Amino acid sequence: MKAWAALCGAASVALGGCFSAPTPLAPGLAGSVGMPNSGVQTDALELPVRGKGFERYRPEGRNHWGRPRLVQALTRIAAEIDDELPGGKLVIGDLAARHGGRIPGHASHRSGRDVDLLFYTTTPAGAPLPSPGFVRFEADGLALVPDSNSYVRLDVARVWLLVKKLVTAPEVGVQFLFVSRAVEARVSDYARARGEPLELVYQAQTVMLQPGDSLPHDDHLHLRIACSPEETIAGCSGGGPYWEWLPPLPSNQLESQALLEAIAADEPLAPLEVAPPIEPVAEPGSLPVARGAD
Ligand SMILES: [Zn+2]
Repeated sequence: MKAWAALCGAASVALGGCFSAPTPLAPGLAGSVGMPNSGVQTDALELPVRGKGFERYRPEGRNHWGRPRLVQALTRIAAEIDDELPGGKLVIGDLAARHGGRIPGHASHRSGRDVDLLFYTTTPAGAPLPSPGFVRFEADGLALVPDSNSYVRLDVARVWLLVKKLVTAPEVGVQFLFVSRAVEARVSDYARARGEPLELVYQAQTVMLQPGDSLPHDDHLHLRIACSPEETIAGCSGGGPYWEWLPPLPSNQLESQALLEAIAADEPLAPLEVAPPIEPVAEPGSLPVARGAD
């Protein structure tokens, strides 16, 4: 009830109405509800402050709640990258508030489907380096760190591994990876030079996008996951396309080939057998009285 009350408040602000309250008309809304830039969420999972291969950009932050499948995938993928290319660290920015709704500094990040991922970085010579924060990478792959007046390099090997793992994780269902054109070019050039499968590179290039209506995302990667079919039924919506390589949507086709053929043949149905009339059964205690006896 408390959660729904908070949700109702958030939704009221964002949408001018409490559309997500459980009513007889919409009893099943749960999980990621509504759009990334106007939604809310229930049953969110919080990203831990740190774990194998990752840490939060804001350890004390309150906006690290997201869809459980997203949070679990981030921790799993960070740990795998730490095993395969040890030495780097994935620094993870904001997800969403526990119950979703508007959070400072973001237009979206409201329904548990968005997360900011800082780029893996190295020294200019290529040694892994913890991310210095939101620093802007130029087309040459270098970023100036204003505090120290020094440069860091985009760690394209780990960034590609991250993109690849996100795109190929069936439970993630990447809708978009918002990123600048310059970073996208470096990452996809690297993937092609490595001889990665063309279909994978195509999918990565398709989801990587420099948004036209917000900052160019040259200082972080913004991951948005698509609504799963189950989530869509429960109120999740929008934010981009449902790509054809994501897990298939439920089909309304008949499973049985035999049934399909029978329908296609359009043969008249066999006449129903008419059941014989049912003999009336006497109820216990009301046995007919033998008429000849009276
Ligand atoms: Zn973001």
